[in-house]
Amino acid sequence: MVRVRFAPSPTGFLHVGSARTALFNWLFARHQKGEFLLRIEDTDAVRSKLEFLDEIMDSLRWLGLNWDGELAFQSKRLEIYRKTAEGLLNQGAAYLDGKAIIYKVTPGEVIEINDLIHGVIQVNTLEIKDQVLIKSDGMPTYNFACVVDDSEFKISHVIRGDDHISNTPKQLLLYRALKLAPPQFAHIPLILGTDRSRLSKRHGATNLNEYRRMGYLPETVVNFLALLGWSPGGDREILSIEEIIQEFDLSRVGKTGAVFDLAKFSWMNSQYLKNASLETLMPLVQAALKERGWWSNGLDPVWVGQVIELYKGRVETIQDFCKQTEGFFTGNIPFDADAVQARLKQPGVDGRLTQFADRLEKIARWDSASIETACRSLAEELKIKAADLIHPTRVAVTGRSVGPSLFHILEVAGKERTVSRLRHAATSLCSVQ
Ligand code: GLU
Repeated sequence: MVRVRFAPSPTGFLHVGSARTALFNWLFARHQKGEFLLRIEDTDAVRSKLEFLDEIMDSLRWLGLNWDGELAFQSKRLEIYRKTAEGLLNQGAAYLDGKAIIYKVTPGEVIEINDLIHGVIQVNTLEIKDQVLIKSDGMPTYNFACVVDDSEFKISHVIRGDDHISNTPKQLLLYRALKLAPPQFAHIPLILGTDRSRLSKRHGATNLNEYRRMGYLPETVVNFLALLGWSPGGDREILSIEEIIQEFDLSRVGKTGAVFDLAKFSWMNSQYLKNASLETLMPLVQAALKERGWWSNGLDPVWVGQVIELYKGRVETIQDFCKQTEGFFTGNIPFDADAVQARLKQPGVDGRLTQFADRLEKIARWDSASIETACRSLAEELKIKAADLIHPTRVAVTGRSVGPSLFHILEVAGKERTVSRLRHAATSLCSVQ
């Protein structure tokens, strides 16, 4: 049976690269109807923190990467590593250096890795130093604990980042010394920025939780990360998790670096947001509004839902939603200086906005159709194009020159807010220098 594991060290928040490793293991297990285990590599007592462990598990749950069975903690298995190392000591395969137990590497031998992605990789043991198994502080090294655990938990496939390729020959030597059958290895390509250098803070956020906070949906993250190194064939980009599970296969994982393209990630999220239901979006928006102090008790959830429906087809993240809709939730209209210059500070605009406000004030039924009629008839009377009323009104009410259909914006903004903003713009913002 296929058994894979994700083995994070809780010494930092979940990096997008680690999340991708977890996802590939999970997809492989689910596709093969195998098991996906979670092992916590917490032998670095100084750097391991509960806070990081909680965050890693929370991120995995958020992505929907459920694991099978109990969590394994390396810090609780120290006795097993010690006993195993002592076994090698007794056989003469390892020696003591102070309190440390060290495995003796015989030079001049060729070790072969048969990697499922890279094919055969050969390494001469001349390049491998003697391997510390147990450090003088009693803690096992990564390579040793990894071998002991992967074999004890009957891991069939080790799927991990390319940066571990240099560890694999060392681990193979240890499997052989312990007379254990090694698992199969699949080293997945490094994640690169668009400039093809290793992904780092320079390229943007590298921790998964930062994307969560910005308002990327878990479905987007799974879809996007799945395509970092794997492809389903064809040009398909938007795939449901079920489709990905069904098609996931290591033979379609590339050897070379996978480019993390933030623009593509954001585009993909905009597609998921556009199709997301109100039930999905409401709690996310509510949390974001609360975080910004924009959620007051009097806020009507039905009305918030209208704002969401109005904007969800044109935002990249929940953060972007808040940026575009600030004027709906606060008295502070985020005026875009260029938009004010181009649309409001123009001769005659103040008079038109005042007249439009007068008209709108008299509308009996406040809906987009009536607002549109009022707008078009005023434009006709003034012998101007409707656009010459629409553009300055959008800036006056939302602060921005782009956005959804103006008549729908005004309907949702409400009569009072619309009229007062038009009057405010006419008196305070339109003066032409
Ligand atoms: N704790 C190691 C890491 O986070 C695990 C590597 C492995 O999968 O063997 O890189």
